[in-house]
Amino acid sequence: MSWMSKTVLVTGGAGFIGSHLCERLVSEGHNVICLDNLYTGSKENILQLLENPRFEFYRHDITFPLYVEVDQIYNLACPASPIHYQHDPVQTTKTSVHGAINVLGLAKRLKAPVLQASTSEVYGDPEVHPQVESYWGNVNPIGSRSCYDEGKRCAETLFFDYHRQHGLQIKVARIFNTYGPNMHPNDGRVVSNFIMQALQNKPITIYGQGEQTRSFCYVDDLVRGLVTLMDTSADVTGPINLGNPSEITIRELAETVIDITGSRSKLVGKPLPADDPRRRRPDIGAAQRVLGWKPEVPLKKGLTKTAKYFEELLKQPEERAS
Ligand code: NAD
Ligand code: UDP
Ligand code: UDP
Repeated sequence: MSWMSKTVLVTGGAGFIGSHLCERLVSEGHNVICLDNLYTGSKENILQLLENPRFEFYRHDITFPLYVEVDQIYNLACPASPIHYQHDPVQTTKTSVHGAINVLGLAKRLKAPVLQASTSEVYGDPEVHPQVESYWGNVNPIGSRSCYDEGKRCAETLFFDYHRQHGLQIKVARIFNTYGPNMHPNDGRVVSNFIMQALQNKPITIYGQGEQTRSFCYVDDLVRGLVTLMDTSADVTGPINLGNPSEITIRELAETVIDITGSRSKLVGKPLPADDPRRRRPDIGAAQRVLGWKPEVPLKKGLTKTAKYFEELLKQPEERAS
């Protein structure tokens, strides 16, 4: 194994998806440098890894230059939940844009392949459904989601310009809604909100009519997609959609969560946030063709595993579960 093992940098490695990615890379025999400023991530997510000699944690803000020697780079650093990325929108844009520039400068110096965790938000409130990679999107450039959407769009631009101008090996993944253990219980995303509410028999907060749709991918499936994309030949750059094409309304999601948790919670209406996309579903034809990838974990199974994680969290002292 050791002759194949690489040193891999994961920015945002203490976050939800990043922690699963670090776990997987270490288990495959790689050395992992996990870089994170712990803005939304947490050391709890990487606790089991901290004692592993193949794992190193590096507390650093990606908006500042970084000098490490690695063979591959996964760039995941960026708050992903609307309440967190809107809390300090200027910092969100800086993280996406300055962060991308630093990571690309690093990749250029090292001649290392670099993968960008982009997002379905680059499609905005889409007029093409399901969303295919060739669609340019429908994004409000000055709204409350713009710091994230436009930041991520600019990061994609930078990745492709470094590729064209400097010959960098880039991989751009457009990630659709992903869920699973290690999501922050209070980050306001729909799956964590609904499960936490259901487990405590509290009202389940439906924003708007609940008729908007999303398509939810279990984190293990997503991480397998990211690793498969990184391991493709240099001619594969993406952008490539990674997500589960099984689409449901937010109301149906609430009912499914009540069902799997056996909760007594009732649904309550709340105002719909600004620019909330009405529907979202990935076309994963390219991922299937190019990567031979498709999600395998059905929603109920993934939600059940996630609910078990939050149930354990609720048994722990206040500061972790609140
Ligand atoms: P997360 O908030 O759990 O993880 C992001 C991590 O980045 C956190 O650990 C945070 O502390 C770190 N971070 C933020 N700003 C930083 C900075 N300036 N310097 C260093 N570290 C910083 O979110 P996640 O769901 O794990 O998302 C990971 C990546 O995947 C993000 O780039 C996100 O945009 C992308 N993504 C996620 C989803 C999803 O549904 N979860 C969907 C599309 C795209
Ligand atoms: N950079 C970095 N680590 C490196 C190499 C570069 O953080 O190992 C940063 C560097 O500080 C610069 C950015 O990446 O701001 C872009 O680098 P590039 O070489 O493209 O641009 P330049 O240094 O010419 O501005
Ligand atoms: N949502 C909801 N109740 C909540 C949290 C979110 O109805 O408690 C809705 C939200 O308005 C959006 C969808 O669920 O339509 C997904 O929201 P999330 O913040 O998870 O992700 P994103 O909007 O970025 O897809």
